[in-house]
Amino acid sequence: MVLEEYNLDRQKALISLYPHQPLRGQSALVTGANSGIGEGCARHLAAAGAAVAVNYVRNPEAAQKIVDDINQSGGKAIAVIADVASEEQVMSMFLTAVAAFGTLDIVVPNAGLQQDSKIEKMTVSQWDLVMNVNLRGQFLCIREAINEFERRGMHDVSKALGKIVCMSSVHEVIPWAGHANYAASKGGVMLMMKSIAQEVSDRKIRVNSIAPGAIATPINRPAWDTVDAESKLLDLIPYNRVGLPDDIGQACVWLASDASDYVVGTTLFVDGGMTLCEGFASGG
Ligand code: NAD
Repeated sequence: MVLEEYNLDRQKALISLYPHQPLRGQSALVTGANSGIGEGCARHLAAAGAAVAVNYVRNPEAAQKIVDDINQSGGKAIAVIADVASEEQVMSMFLTAVAAFGTLDIVVPNAGLQQDSKIEKMTVSQWDLVMNVNLRGQFLCIREAINEFERRGMHDVSKALGKIVCMSSVHEVIPWAGHANYAASKGGVMLMMKSIAQEVSDRKIRVNSIAPGAIATPINRPAWDTVDAESKLLDLIPYNRVGLPDDIGQACVWLASDASDYVVGTTLFVDGGMTLCEGFASGG
């Protein structure tokens, strides 16, 4: 399959999906927002009316292009560099975003990566890198988000004090041979998200996750960019199409908006039915 690139025209078209601008007056930070799912979330949050901080750690040109498209389509965005595995850089990223927008209402800890290996060959650095970005990075962003929500206090843009949308994966519940570090990090995201939701929801902070299935992005290009690969991937997806960053962007807007005000501590699977275990479709 061919992935349609985002550009200024598509950014303008996204705005028509949100005629009531459910996030108007709010500001958001998305990590790993210069590629794939993070870009989809940043662009949809902006189209729904939020000012957006686009985090990146490499490829500043891609981040700047997204920021330019958002600003030129009438929205507001800035690019912010940070390695989410670094406490110091995450704290500095939050300071920059808050200085630009006054506060943050929505935080999407999305940055993630894979370092795949059979378990006998997996190195400590492969294990640590995945844990540091996928799990520690989300912890740091959630902690800083909650501190900022508390510092600012309630304001009248949302029923909640703040919203956090973690980027998990279907692999928070589906074991994944050859990817033990990745599956462990996403299983960790699941219970971290639920534990923090339990801890802070009485302060009107909503913490939830999205668990994408197979979404066509650079992280998994070999799984979808040839006809053979796509056909093999579709064997796992009851809905029979590969997901797009737009699918996750729209779910992210909903979880960040008051339309989901009673949704707390939940993982929203956006996976075309992948977690329905397609292999059992004919009776097992
Ligand atoms: P991607 O490779 O397109 O994007 C990942 C982003 O994270 C990139 O912008 C990358 O630069 C950034 N990143 C990596 N390390 C970072 C660091 N230390 N600090 C800051 N940013 C960093 O992949 P994607 O598919 O868009 O993945 C986004 C998230 O979605 C990840 O958490 C991934 O695990 C999750 N996810 C993806 C899929 C899928 O099918 N694509 C499925 C389930 C979950």
